Amino acid sequence: MDYDVIIVGAGPCGIFTALELKKLDPNKNILILEKGNSISKRICPKRKTGVCVNCKPCNITTGFAGAGAYSDGKLSLSPDVGGNLPEYLGYEKTRELIKYVDEIYLKFGADNKIYGIDKDKEIQEIRKKAIRSNLKLVECPIRHMGTEEGYAIYGRIEEHLEKIGVDLMFRTPVKDIILDENRKIKGVIADKEYYADKVVISVGREGSDWLRHLCIKHDIDTETGDVDIGVRVETRNEIMEELNEAMYESKLIYYAPTFDDKVRTFCSNPGGEVSTEYYDEELAVVNGHSYKAEELKSDNTNFALLVTKHFTKPFNSPIEYGMHIAKLGNMLSGHKVLVQRYGDYKRGRRTTEERLYRNNIIPTLKDAVPGDLSLVLPYRILKSIDDMLIALDNVAPGLASDETLLYGVEVKFYSNKVVTRNGFETNIPNLFVGGDGAGITRGLMQASVNGVVLGRKLS
Ligand SMILES: Cc1cc2nc3c(=O)[nH]c(=O)nc-3n(C[C@H](O)[C@H](O)[C@H](O)COP(=O)(O)OP(=O)(O)OC[C@H]3O[C@@H](n4cnc5c(N)ncnc54)[C@H](O)[C@@H]3O)c2cc1C
Repeated sequence: MDYDVIIVGAGPCGIFTALELKKLDPNKNILILEKGNSISKRICPKRKTGVCVNCKPCNITTGFAGAGAYSDGKLSLSPDVGGNLPEYLGYEKTRELIKYVDEIYLKFGADNKIYGIDKDKEIQEIRKKAIRSNLKLVECPIRHMGTEEGYAIYGRIEEHLEKIGVDLMFRTPVKDIILDENRKIKGVIADKEYYADKVVISVGREGSDWLRHLCIKHDIDTETGDVDIGVRVETRNEIMEELNEAMYESKLIYYAPTFDDKVRTFCSNPGGEVSTEYYDEELAVVNGHSYKAEELKSDNTNFALLVTKHFTKPFNSPIEYGMHIAKLGNMLSGHKVLVQRYGDYKRGRRTTEERLYRNNIIPTLKDAVPGDLSLVLPYRILKSIDDMLIALDNVAPGLASDETLLYGVEVKFYSNKVVTRNGFETNIPNLFVGGDGAGITRGLMQASVNGVVLGRKLS
């Protein structure tokens, strides 16, 4: 064998697998194969020019630190947020591991401040308004690294991994796995064959479609998961001030009255920017982030409103369903993100450049195309978002005003939930999975914790 362990994907899950493995056994031979660039080469031209040039692979979603490098860097310090790990590890164990991982982030330079723990009175007031509107407020302390600090922290982790002897290979997408005659893992195929006793696949949402095909090809057990489809909302900071100051990120859940679908706020970015990310190198979907430095902050807050869809038999391709909707949006906008004012959304008419200029709010995603989301989103998603915005307006008055911007489509592909047993091992002996791509986690902290558990298991 060339290696003891091969890790596919250098996102937070893969990185923390390697960190923990090396900590417990410095002699382990570890190779990380990553489709994107090393962190220093992850340069997004759009940051200078304001226009996406469609890099292949996308420097925002691929490369060292995966989707974490240019994320907002919010570490959710509660097991209630960011994935399903409590189902696998138990609530208390997850809490204990979050603390452990948080200390590692602190060691690599994360900010000491935690949001959401010292504003009891204000949070109580927000909860009261939420209850009156049938919204559930989920409390979660947040450590905010910020996009630029998060990038620097992951940069230090990359240097550290190199120093402790982990082999990192970039621009090396893995195409397939190699099994022996007993269906036991032997290695992977990338630019050539690499052999190892054990393989971890932690390919994130970016690699979830590839992983789904791999599971079909090699009979790896999966369950149909959910897909979250919705929009990114952008409003002025003044409208979200109370929530931003008390909690930084307010997590609210609603069961929309018309269809009883679950709608939730997700990934709130005070003073942030709306961004485009590309899946499969060509599908434009919307996201958001914010910088830590005051001078880089915008006048706006953005957050996602996501409607969760769970499908039942015979349908079992939620990723394709989500992609189909995103493709429809791309078709209308020339492979860009669509933007619509809430006033136009409600009245069923297209937003035009002229209507956009009527607003107080200036869109932070400069190349978004004014359009009509009702030509893209299925009616139940459109309606659930509308129901949710009306409910949220009671907690953040002014949110349901005509000028609020809705960017589409935001899709979270968590769907291919790989069935695991015995510490994230698949039904192929010695093949392990973790992180967002396997449908286990949905955020930086839980993806990192998942990595620690994998590292301990494989040491
Ligand atoms: C814009 C944005 C903002 C976000 N903000 C936050 C936030 O503030 N807080 C939070 O908790 N979460 C946030 N997230 C989510 C968070 O980034 C992810 O949950 C987390 O990165 C998942 O970690 P992972 O290791 O599972 O996967 P990823 O981080 O996606 O990493 C997977 C890696 O695998 C690589 N890969 C894929 N396929 C292959 C292949 N075939 N071969 C080799 N390599 C492959 C990819 O290039 C990627 O680098 C954000 C995400 C985005 C996109």
